[in-house]
Amino acid sequence: MDIINKQNQLVEIYNRFEKDMRRYKKDALCKAGCSFCCTHFGNVDIITLEGLRVLQYLRRLPKQQQKTLQKKIDKNKKDREIQKISPCPFLKSDKTCLIYDIRPFSCRRLYSVKNCGDKGPIVHRQAEELSKKTIMELQDLDSNGYSGHITYILDLLRQPEFLKLYLSGGFNPVQIAAYGKAHGIVINCSRI
Ligand code: SF4
Repeated sequence: MDIINKQNQLVEIYNRFEKDMRRYKKDALCKAGCSFCCTHFGNVDIITLEGLRVLQYLRRLPKQQQKTLQKKIDKNKKDREIQKISPCPFLKSDKTCLIYDIRPFSCRRLYSVKNCGDKGPIVHRQAEELSKKTIMELQDLDSNGYSGHITYILDLLRQPEFLKLYLSGGFNPVQIAAYGKAHGIVINCSRI
């Protein structure tokens, strides 16, 4: 399957998930501007296919905005590397998401039926099961890709050799072995 078909299928999976989640999310207290999930959790895990969508979006922005965002992405990456919790680089000053329409699955799955305090979001058990199943489906779809924290995956995709191989459908985990090990990146097809 080529990359365009994979990206279309990614959107289909998102849409189906949203539909299946409606019955649970109707109880959610989440509202625009809350941003607890975007600031209090270190990890925003994504698959490479989602990273590619984000990268394509970034490359269409005005050059100056790209530069500013890249600084935020680099800072988030550095903070993560020293286990420091850092706000998502795509969180805007008004506490909304710059990439909301193309936000990754880990942001779509989260909601809470209680106010997020020290314990974080409270979700229905069935919704958690549905999320886990969907993550496996996404990893199967992105079978020549990887999963990991958003700024680490974006960093990989910014490497021309990696991007070229990935876009061609190729797969060479040795190419990223050292970086992957140091940054907790996993191979999607290792589950199969
Ligand atoms: S991508 Fe958007 S929704 Fe997801 S953590 Fe970042 S700011 Fe929040």
